[in-house]
Amino acid sequence: MTLVHNWHLGRTMEYPYFESRPEHQFAAVFNTNRCIACQTCTMAHKSTWTYSKGQEYMWWNNVETKPYGGYPQHWDHKILQLLWDNGNNPMEWYTSAEDKDETKAPYGLYNGDTIFELAQTKGLKQVAVGYIPDDKEWRFPNIYEDTAASEKTNYETGPAAESSELPEHKRWFFYLQRLCNHCTYPACLAACPRKAIYKRKEDGIVLIDQKRCRGYRKCVEQCPYKKPMYRGETRMSEKCIGCYPRVEGKDPVTKGRRMEARCMAACVGKIRLNGLLSGDYKKPDPKNPLDWMIHIHKVALPLYPQFGTEPNIYYIPPRWAPRSYLKQMFGPGVDEALDKYAAPSRELMAVLQLFRTTQTMLSRFEIEDGEKIYESEIMGKKVEVYNDTVIGFASDGTEMVRVKVEEPTWESDEKRMITY
Ligand code: SF4
Ligand code: SF4
Repeated sequence: MTLVHNWHLGRTMEYPYFESRPEHQFAAVFNTNRCIACQTCTMAHKSTWTYSKGQEYMWWNNVETKPYGGYPQHWDHKILQLLWDNGNNPMEWYTSAEDKDETKAPYGLYNGDTIFELAQTKGLKQVAVGYIPDDKEWRFPNIYEDTAASEKTNYETGPAAESSELPEHKRWFFYLQRLCNHCTYPACLAACPRKAIYKRKEDGIVLIDQKRCRGYRKCVEQCPYKKPMYRGETRMSEKCIGCYPRVEGKDPVTKGRRMEARCMAACVGKIRLNGLLSGDYKKPDPKNPLDWMIHIHKVALPLYPQFGTEPNIYYIPPRWAPRSYLKQMFGPGVDEALDKYAAPSRELMAVLQLFRTTQTMLSRFEIEDGEKIYESEIMGKKVEVYNDTVIGFASDGTEMVRVKVEEPTWESDEKRMITY
């Protein structure tokens, strides 16, 4: 084991390989508040990559309803339970001013074992704590869809009063969009005895070399997100490939420019923005929309940072779910992220308009000022909305998109109406 820095945790941690960050990192921000669970993303990946024999139960992208849904079933409950280690690893965060550091520990300091460290503490003969889901757990990709959690029904005030208490709803569920996180410290890669898994230097995409894989399933066991999947037909494991030919600009549609992954480009709810993060997390580029949302504005958070893999898919948390549940899932940055999302700044309003405006990966944005169109107070905070214009650029500097904050509306011409 070596010591590597994990900025999600605000500290160094043990990992089997030396710290080696890619030049750029494949990443995305998902706005959970906008997802309608249409599963278009799920079918986009399915029809692109996993339609063949032996891939029937492979869902590299899935959308599950929290808190009960999961693919494989109960994956996060199970890994959290293992990590909890009968209460010997309480997974606390220190968040006082001295525990925070703008670049090295933006959320605070994690004071618990990661999946790698707990395996060491317990003297396990594996690199991380983990488990292999059984066949039954892989069989139902969308079980518990739209099933809400609630406190006990209050019969005195009646069910209608239950969901009206803000900022948290008592009856709640939300959609969690999931795919491989192309982690900075992949547990799948660390676990593979064949060294068949590698992380690409140019974009940080994590791939399984099918020529080297022998189907030992150590990646399936040790990935805490359960995103490598075993294919009985070939007796090998497969996982999300980050649509790397598109990311390399091989699709003619974007004329050689980097293109977003299929599941991202297909998103109907416009919740996804996919691109590359700057390689140095200590020097984020304030003009890169992903760097800005993740590192500078801190409105988007990693999924289960306490696992220790430094995952690279980031989430704007849902507004109305209980904060304690969200903090377990996204770490201690939840309050700050939700304060910023609920009463958005002028810059955030503009950047959010970039979601799903183009299939080309955007590496830079500019904002042109517009007139004020709205003013209000949200949770005691004054909010002003301006009809600014946000412009998105590809990495070669070409302007790809120009949109205003206020979305245009069209009224159909009366002449076109069919009358009976
Ligand atoms: S999410 Fe799992 S499969 Fe993907 S890189 Fe991380 S550890 Fe590996
Ligand atoms: S396509 Fe977008 S809106 Fe539809 S389920 Fe997927 S992430 Fe949600």
